[in-house]
Amino acid sequence: MTIQWFPGHMTRARRQIQDKLKLIDVVIELLDARIPLSSRNPMIDEILQNKPRFVLLNKSDLADPDVTAKWVAYFAGEGLQALPVDAATGNQMKEIMARCRQLMAAKIETQLRKGINPRAIRALIVGIPNVGKSTLINRLAGRKIAATGDKPGVTKGQQWIKVGTEMELLDTPGILWPKFEDQQVGMRLAATGAIKEEILHPEDIAFYTLRYLTVHYGGALKERFGIDKMPDDPEDNDAVIEVMEAIGRKRGALVSGGRVDLEKASLTILRELRAGKMGRISLESPDDVNEEKPL
Ligand code: GDP
Repeated sequence: MTIQWFPGHMTRARRQIQDKLKLIDVVIELLDARIPLSSRNPMIDEILQNKPRFVLLNKSDLADPDVTAKWVAYFAGEGLQALPVDAATGNQMKEIMARCRQLMAAKIETQLRKGINPRAIRALIVGIPNVGKSTLINRLAGRKIAATGDKPGVTKGQQWIKVGTEMELLDTPGILWPKFEDQQVGMRLAATGAIKEEILHPEDIAFYTLRYLTVHYGGALKERFGIDKMPDDPEDNDAVIEVMEAIGRKRGALVSGGRVDLEKASLTILRELRAGKMGRISLESPDDVNEEKPL
């Protein structure tokens, strides 16, 4: 479902999270490992204030492990622990619980010293639509709790889900809006499937993505589509279109007269990218986020 975020939605989403913050000890900020900054809410620090928190880089099964390691270091530099996870298969669920305990360790120790029996650590998952919040909640709960798909502003009764013996999770995640005013961010969100193609045209998304891939993942393009020649200059639009056409021809995306159907080729590129068919690919790296020119 495509969500249009209007200022009213944002205010409501923000208030809902701030209400939930009063109930919880730890915030788990879920980002897409392929595009950690683009999948981050622009007001996150302001919204979460000083709540203990850490980052999960989800869908790391689809992301380039070397780039993901750089992101972990990047967030460490910001004073935030980041853990690559894969909510779909449920790897690292124990590690998530361990991180929560670690964040609360000092408080728990103080309570124990005072003779207070610490209650379960209460956690909230927050993130933009489609980042995997519901999948993660279901994984941590060990059963199907959260309906996948988001409806910002729709409230329902909140419940605590037990995760092991020491942790409780709020069953409704905090839904945040992405930084969609920035066109580059919009392209990256669209490339990963976080926002739908009705908003941005598939040819534009595929073109943008392909330009990035020719620079950073030429080997993957060669292997998947048998393309040898990458553009000498990624700013050369015609050369990038040639790569798109070569992929279209390879996949038989042709219109009458034998010309390449660029829309079909674009949809193929995006589908194969999102399904991980080109290998593990990140569309944003701490090395290049500051270097790239606007579109
Ligand atoms: P939400 O909107 O944040 O609740 O996101 P969902 O939990 O509905 O997940 C959105 C899509 O991402 C679904 O199709 C999930 O199956 C998929 N997904 C979630 N986590 C992962 C993951 O770690 N790896 C992969 N490959 N897909 C995931």
